[in-house]
Order: sequence, then C-alpha cells, then structure tokens
Amino acid sequence: MKNRKTGEARLLEHIEKTFRFPLDRRLLLGPGDDCAVLRHAPGKDLVITTDELVEGTHYLARFAAPEDLARKLIRINLSDLASMGEVTPVSCVVGSGLRKDTPEDFILRFMKELKAEALRFGISIAGGNLAGARENHFYMTVWGESGGSELVTRYGAKPGDLLFNFGPLGLAAAGLEILLGGRAAEKKKFPGLVKAFWRPEPLLKAGALLGRTGLASAMLDNSDGLARSAAIISELSRCRVLVSPGEGACPPELRAYSALKKKPWRHYAVNGGEDYGLIFTSPAKELARIKALLPGALVVGRLEKGSGSELENFNGKVESFEHF
Ligand SMILES: [Mg+2]
Repeated sequence: MKNRKTGEARLLEHIEKTFRFPLDRRLLLGPGDDCAVLRHAPGKDLVITTDELVEGTHYLARFAAPEDLARKLIRINLSDLASMGEVTPVSCVVGSGLRKDTPEDFILRFMKELKAEALRFGISIAGGNLAGARENHFYMTVWGESGGSELVTRYGAKPGDLLFNFGPLGLAAAGLEILLGGRAAEKKKFPGLVKAFWRPEPLLKAGALLGRTGLASAMLDNSDGLARSAAIISELSRCRVLVSPGEGACPPELRAYSALKKKPWRHYAVNGGEDYGLIFTSPAKELARIKALLPGALVVGRLEKGSGSELENFNGKVESFEHF
C-alpha cells in the first residue's frame, strides 16, 4: 500500500483537515484519532467517540438479529475508548433511524440487549434519538474518563519501534464472508469466526495496561484491517511500516476456513476489518515487558525511517499491498 487510499479514507482526511480549528482550548485532541479528548478539569479528561451500524453497509437484515446489532454497536464504540489507553467508560447516547416496517418487537429486543450490555460494561444510557429512515441504522456516542495516565494517540510511533497486534486478526472478515454466503453448514462449522464478527471484545483492560505503563508509543483499534491500520500509523507517525504477520497470528479456525476457501489466511488478517483488536507500536527494547504483561500480543511488523507501509517477508520479499 504505497499509499493506496479508499474513497472513505480520502474523505476522512479532508474532514479532519477541515474541522481542525479547536476554538475550545480544552479540546486536547480533535478529529483524526480514535477519540476526541476534552480536559474538563485539571488532570481530568473526557474521552469521546462515535460510531454506527448501517444496514446494507455493515450488515444485511437477513443475518442480523436485534441482539447482534445492540451488542456490536456498544462494543465498537467502547473499543475506541480502549485504544486510547487508560479510560473508564462512563455513559453513552444512542439513536436509530428505522424503516416504517420495523416490527416493534425488533426494537424492544434491541433495547433489552443494549441495556444488558450497558450493565455488563458499567455504562449508563444517557439519552438518544429516534427517526424514520429508508435503511435501518443504529448510532452511538460514548464517553469515558481518564486522568491517571497519558493517553495514547496514533502519532507517537518512532523508527525502530515494533508493530504489535493484540486480539483477533482476520476472524471477523471471515465471519462476515460466512454470513454473506448464507451457508448454514459453514456457520455451524466456524462459530468462532461468526462470533468474531458480531461480538468483538472491547479490549479495555489491555488498553488501560498499555496506557498506564506507557509502553505503547501509538495505538488504534483495528476496525479497518491490519493494512489500513499500518497505513494510518505510517501517515500520522511519519514512519515506514513493514507488516509481517507470522504463522502464530493465525488461529486454527481461520486456518481451516482459509484452507476450505483456498485463500491465504493473511488475505483475511491483512485486508479484513472489524476485528477491533488493539494495534500498537512500542520500542523494540520493550518486547520482553510487553510479552510478560500481555502474553497474547504478537509482533506483526516493524517501523523504519521513511514513509508508506508494505508487506514483508512471508513470501520472501517486500511487496506493496496491491500485489497481495
Ligand atoms: Mg477506532
């Protein structure tokens, strides 16, 4: 990816530039990171993010139960808080645009699960909005508090750092492929992949640990795949990122599924999105400390002086992502 950018990435860049005019001096971090950060009292920060699920874009009605949507909506938002470091989730507001033909039972089930999830993660639902719409969509804004330790942005990585992944890699993309394919036998055979798509785990404890110890120089949650995450770190931290996920990054279920589909597992791991693991960088000398604190964290690349992001090693040479 010597800088292949999707239309969405280009538009986001334009949005971030356009709105970078913080009139409020308490706004420590504005557009362009996983969350905005507002210092509301000395040493006390509010950490804020928003995300949504749109029918036809993020899921299809035929494979989405209201409980799935409620769980995923809250979890993808909390995942953004996790990627900022030590943040305690506090509350959210939630809204939806609904087609006229949406059964009342669907909405009640969505609400019931949303409440159960809010209680599970210890956050309040502070308000929201409802409107009619042509396609169903569900959105949320969530905020948390921070103050004890420095927050981790996307732009602190340095040449010589290692690139780490903590959490699933490629599983959700395979899960979505199974759901789109609609084959019941595949769904039954690969439950972990489908679960990875619908129930991402916001890695709040791991994020807090990395924030508290100051071990992560840059961090984001993996919403758009390893390749896109590497490109973001490369652009914002002004480094060259070489991505090289080793065999250890592929769990047996993804290995079995990619064999069935005759695709390399790295196709899912590198290009697939919506895993919501933590992707972070750290100086190479911290490798042992990171392994001790987060045994599941895997080195998936390294940073050099320069620009751009490319794949390295697993087929014996450096390649741009387009050739993969
Ligand atoms: Mg994010």
